[in-house]
Amino acid sequence: MLSILKTEVLPPKSCGLATEPGSMSQRSCVYFGARYVLGPIREAIHLVHGAVGCSYYGKMVRGTPAPVWTTDMEEDDVIFGGREKLKKALIEAFRLKPEAKGAFVYITCVSGLIGEDVTTVAEEVTQITGKTIKVVSCPGFSGFSQSKGHDLSYNLIFELIKPVKKPKEPVVNLVGEYNVGGETQVIKELLEKLGIKVHVSLTGEATWSQIETMSRAHLNLMFCGATAENFCRKMKESFSIPFMKVSFYGLKSTAASLRKIGDFFEIPEYRVEKVIEEGEKWALSNIFPWRKVFYGKKALIVLGTYRLGPQGKMLKELGLEVVAAASIFGRIDDHVEAYSITSRVTDNPGDYEVEKALTLLKPDIVLTNARDQWRPIKFGIPVLSFPQPKERGPYAGYKGMVNFARDLHRCLNAPVWRLLKSEF
Ligand code: SF4
Repeated sequence: MLSILKTEVLPPKSCGLATEPGSMSQRSCVYFGARYVLGPIREAIHLVHGAVGCSYYGKMVRGTPAPVWTTDMEEDDVIFGGREKLKKALIEAFRLKPEAKGAFVYITCVSGLIGEDVTTVAEEVTQITGKTIKVVSCPGFSGFSQSKGHDLSYNLIFELIKPVKKPKEPVVNLVGEYNVGGETQVIKELLEKLGIKVHVSLTGEATWSQIETMSRAHLNLMFCGATAENFCRKMKESFSIPFMKVSFYGLKSTAASLRKIGDFFEIPEYRVEKVIEEGEKWALSNIFPWRKVFYGKKALIVLGTYRLGPQGKMLKELGLEVVAAASIFGRIDDHVEAYSITSRVTDNPGDYEVEKALTLLKPDIVLTNARDQWRPIKFGIPVLSFPQPKERGPYAGYKGMVNFARDLHRCLNAPVWRLLKSEF
């Protein structure tokens, strides 16, 4: 509560802390953090052992359907236990989907609270079916944000990896890349121009088999450090695969990342520079007609954690001023990056703080997630919401920069904002 009594707009708050009692948070639960990472993995059964509402909550991941099954625990299961129900459901799931290489079983609040022994059930079903079953112990109450779910999911993914031989041609894994709006394809195309193949995109485009063989890569490209840094470190220690942090958001970051990757694989400089030059020329010519609309406009960012800095840099490259950046479950590295674009950075803002930022900083546009978009809209302020759906396309690479500029332009120029009168 102390922070909201201060007079500053969006006072700086340390990240990695629990929500202050009494304030509303837009954070998700640990289970949802696990779904965020594991949900898109194909060749797997995803079974939620809990109330049906949990599976409903986890059926869309980053705006894309992520098939999930549930044991639909009810009162009787809470009183007498749901082990038999879970066992039957798992065997039935493998019967219906025999091509599945394994299963993720999510423990949510209900099964977590009654202390269901899911591990024993998983072992019994493995003996019957011969399939690997990973127990995702992620009851919503077991952490104060989705971060814990990300971490435990990457630990489970790590357990699936087997040592395999490396090919001769350069191969990379994309780690912490979530294929929002089709971004994985854009990154793949850019790397292919340098003769580099992508083995797997974790977890934007990942199958169980690709994960098992991901030690064949020569390099891990780390996108979201918040979710993937520990995983990359463990892969370095266990499989001697180095990693480097890259970003394909914005022209400057894309160029810097391509140069770093080119250096690592000793690709001739002229080849890398050709890709950069062609990409920038194409992007700038497409963005040019919209640029005058962007100059001097003020933007407020309220996003998860990883996109804070990268999206801010894209705004700056287009000529907007970032008046403040707030993360929902921030990490220190992401806050440091955000400080390079604005002096106002905070974590887990409450409703009061966001309202104050809207009224005092008067942004022309707000970049935020789908859950937080309604407040600025009520204030009559245009919103660019994340994750962007497939129809809006990727925001990564040169194509992405053009898509991002187009969407900003559409938001800022939409006639509805001139008709709307804010009541605040
Ligand atoms: S908080 Fe608990 S009950 Fe709610 S969605 Fe998360 S795991 Fe399920």
